[in-house]
Amino acid sequence: MTAETETAAKPASPNPSGWRPSAPATGEPVAAPTVTGNRALMLEEPLLFEIGRRDQTGIDLEPAKAVATRLGGLERNGVDLPGLSEPETVRHYTRLSRQNYAIDLGLFPLGSCTMKHNPRLNEKMARLPGFSDIHPLQPQETVQGALEVIDRLAFWLIELTGMQGVAMSPKAGAHGELCGLLCIRAALEARGDPRQVVLVPESAHGTNPATAAFCGYRVENIPATKAGRVDLEALKARLGPDVAAVMITNPNTCGLFEPQMKEISDAVHAAGAFVYCDGANFNAIVGKAKPGDLGVDAMHINLHKTFSTPHGGGGPGSGPVVLSEALAPFAPLPFVQKSDRSYKMVEEETAHEQGSDSFGRMVAFHGQMGMFTRALTYILSHGADGLAQVAGDSVLNANYLLRSLEDVLDAPFAFSGPCMHEAIFSDKGFAEGFSTIDVAKALIDEGFHPMTMYFPLVVHGAMLVEPTETESKANLDQFIAALRSIAERAKAGDPALKAAPIHAPRRRLDETLAARKPVLTYNNPAPDGSSTGLGAHFGGG
Ligand SMILES: *Cc1c(COP(=O)(O)O)cnc(C)c1O
Repeated sequence: MTAETETAAKPASPNPSGWRPSAPATGEPVAAPTVTGNRALMLEEPLLFEIGRRDQTGIDLEPAKAVATRLGGLERNGVDLPGLSEPETVRHYTRLSRQNYAIDLGLFPLGSCTMKHNPRLNEKMARLPGFSDIHPLQPQETVQGALEVIDRLAFWLIELTGMQGVAMSPKAGAHGELCGLLCIRAALEARGDPRQVVLVPESAHGTNPATAAFCGYRVENIPATKAGRVDLEALKARLGPDVAAVMITNPNTCGLFEPQMKEISDAVHAAGAFVYCDGANFNAIVGKAKPGDLGVDAMHINLHKTFSTPHGGGGPGSGPVVLSEALAPFAPLPFVQKSDRSYKMVEEETAHEQGSDSFGRMVAFHGQMGMFTRALTYILSHGADGLAQVAGDSVLNANYLLRSLEDVLDAPFAFSGPCMHEAIFSDKGFAEGFSTIDVAKALIDEGFHPMTMYFPLVVHGAMLVEPTETESKANLDQFIAALRSIAERAKAGDPALKAAPIHAPRRRLDETLAARKPVLTYNNPAPDGSSTGLGAHFGGG
């Protein structure tokens, strides 16, 4: 890949609000392309297929012994993967890693994602050999400490949510939703009540309706009020004998608490249905409110959000599901059972015992051990008071952002009071032709990962900003200053904003084309065969 030719952004014309134009003024030197494509210490890195060679490898392998094949000519003759020497390999991946933005580099304001600092203590604990160097098929008496970690974490998740049981094995939030709905379906089937509809608010995360549809339910929307909450009257009017469950997010995806949650739950239960709560936003209320008190029957907890375990490029998710008394018997296998002196992983159903009503199994083994260890470390190192402060500080930081920006960015729900852990803005008031994407791209130039864009759908051109509790006031002030200046440029219609990002290694990409027609294969562009010559095997794209 070579760097595309860059054109300097046009100098900005109107400058009513005092922002500094980011393009150099006429007469100043314009950055010329470099010979290497590198820019200062930002290094370009081609694909492995472009720099690797088929005859090269970082390790010495003995020539294979001649063996008589028994595959009848069906064996593969080499896989044509390019190789690099060890130092080249180290550089290739180190250069790629430096092109990542990460929470360890700067503020990561992705709303709904809770990109919070992962304390290094978590990593230290997860790397203890007794947790990291074990195997799921090892005899259980040799992994008692690991089983105890799962059991203790299960205890604290139940305690923090005020629920009756927990399924630990789901691997992420969406997987937890599937687990919760399968519990609900099993409970309904057990009472011979095959209901077909799941109600989902308009503002829901896309995984909610997707999960319900995947489970075979028909999905219907519940409208939102002007204040961004579930319309209780509309919900009550729709409840009936065909409704299996309501999937509701609290705090919701507009960053608002649903104050009528208990009334919602009571109405849903009175209609014979169950309440599924999307717990992805639990960070805002952890240690302060218990979903069990609000009438929730099932809720997934994203350990990788609320309990700080790394996610995105940083690690796998983990989505345990807490369950009410009505649903706990249907939880999936396996689960950890504590007896007098030892812990046991119960793998199979036994009649008339715990687990006998289980709907089955969701994963091969027990879930994400590394994430369990990190989450338990986080919970124990914070304690009850520390976790309540996490919630309080996350709400404080989001409200500081909301109130510092509401005069330059339209904040559609700010009239209804404070937000929870994330602040939402719309693109109302931007100059003709300017939208949320222009703000997001300009944030890249300012050195910030963009916020969540165009979600939830109930807000036009939504910008959902979640700073998290671990950002200092100084960090927030810098982010606010950047966003204020960009918002003013969007309102003034600064044409240079349309060219952003101008400082990033890549300019604006055609994201629609990339999503619709992704190029997933490598085609050797060198017709003279001077490159690896692997094109024929990887070609097509
Ligand atoms: C993150 C998120 C999910 C999905 O969780 P994953 O772990 O990414 O599968 C669901 N709902 C909401 C509101 C979320 O923010």
